Amino acid sequence: MNYQLIIIGGGASGLAAAFAAASYGVERIAVLERTARVGKKILVTGNGRCNLSHTPVSAADYYGSVPVGEILTAFGTAESFFETLGLHCRRDSAGRIYPYSMHAASVLDALRLACNRYGVEEICDAQVTALHPQKGGWLVHTENADYTAENVIFAAGGFAAPHLGTDGSAWELLKKLGIPLAPPSPVLCPIMSDAAMLRPLKGLRVRADAKLMQRNTCLYEEQGEVQFTERTVSGICIFNMASHIRGEKCSEYRIVLDLMPEQNAEDTLSMLYGFQAVRNDGDCESLLSGMFQKPLSRLILKVCNVTADMPCMMLNGRKIREIAETIHHLSFPVKGVSEWKQAQATAGGVIGDALDAHLQVRNHPHLYVVGEAADVHSLCGGYHLHWAWASGVWAAKHIAERSSER
Ligand SMILES: Cc1cc2nc3c(=O)[nH]c(=O)nc-3n(C[C@H](O)[C@H](O)[C@H](O)COP(=O)(O)OP(=O)(O)OC[C@H]3O[C@@H](n4cnc5c(N)ncnc54)[C@H](O)[C@@H]3O)c2cc1C
Repeated sequence: MNYQLIIIGGGASGLAAAFAAASYGVERIAVLERTARVGKKILVTGNGRCNLSHTPVSAADYYGSVPVGEILTAFGTAESFFETLGLHCRRDSAGRIYPYSMHAASVLDALRLACNRYGVEEICDAQVTALHPQKGGWLVHTENADYTAENVIFAAGGFAAPHLGTDGSAWELLKKLGIPLAPPSPVLCPIMSDAAMLRPLKGLRVRADAKLMQRNTCLYEEQGEVQFTERTVSGICIFNMASHIRGEKCSEYRIVLDLMPEQNAEDTLSMLYGFQAVRNDGDCESLLSGMFQKPLSRLILKVCNVTADMPCMMLNGRKIREIAETIHHLSFPVKGVSEWKQAQATAGGVIGDALDAHLQVRNHPHLYVVGEAADVHSLCGGYHLHWAWASGVWAAKHIAERSSER
């Protein structure tokens, strides 16, 4: 065999696995990466700052069919993992962990320097197109060359951000081996809504309490900044909702925004009466202009069938109450989740039952699945990268232990 270990995919989990395997004593390791350089996605994470983990982090933070508890416990903290690579980290007040430099390139440099030190081979422009079990290991086929390896770690990610190398085509390799996968769907992504409602709001940001409703049931609620684009509602609290939406039932969902979550509708009603008295010579738009930006005020009035330039003194009590209630329940229909190119992660992947406790494929010994390719996903805040490091290290450790037993 050419290699003791081949890793398919030079992303977060692949590089962590390469470093860990080498540091545990595995020799002859190659990382095959389909794009021109490894770690492209790491560089854009966290808006270029790389939110590499979260504290605290536990199994309860993850969704999907793969049990993650033991793996997370064994990994410990990302801060100590990166300290061993010479990278110092910092935490923000919300528990998000970043490199001390606040620069994603520091994270990629740390991983690459460590891999280089151990002589890990980085082979780029090497898209793996077939994977065949053979005696004593695996034959890994790329467009340019064939490689053999005793062990393979599949770290080729999912479908999110296809422009960074992850268009999901690598999952075909697993399907051809008969490995069961939960169907992919985009998560951590904007949610599409009614363009006629959204177009005037384009570029606007508001703080709100956001609920995802399926008929009368609230599936998810979070307060935070909500952003509007021409076709989508966005922002971290919206990203975190996306995994609850099942495509085929889109018309059942609504995003409901409470634009003044710090008070109730009765307080808002009294406030509006007060403003009506203060702005008694103004129009309805000016009634709301002390609370919201104009496009949002206009939308609230439109939802209540109130003409923006109507004198505000003409509003009767019933209409003022309707406006107050709309401020606390501004409802946007859901038209679907956004496309893969706007998503940050993938739900779905190799299901838990197909993997043993070491993330090794049960029916294919010496093949391991880590990172986003496994059926694990989470919320915004560093959890995905944390899983990528932890799962890569976990599989690497098992390969090293097994190799040393022989
Ligand atoms: C814009 C953006 C921002 C994000 N920010 C954060 C954040 O701040 N914090 C966080 O926790 N998560 C963040 N994420 C999610 C996080 O980056 C991913 O969950 C994580 O990178 C997944 O790691 P992975 O190793 O499984 O896959 P990836 O990092 O996606 O790596 C997979 C690699 O495999 C390569 N590959 C694919 N197919 C093949 C093939 N056939 N042959 C060879 N190579 C192949 C790809 O080119 C890629 O380099 C963000 C994602 C995006 C898109």
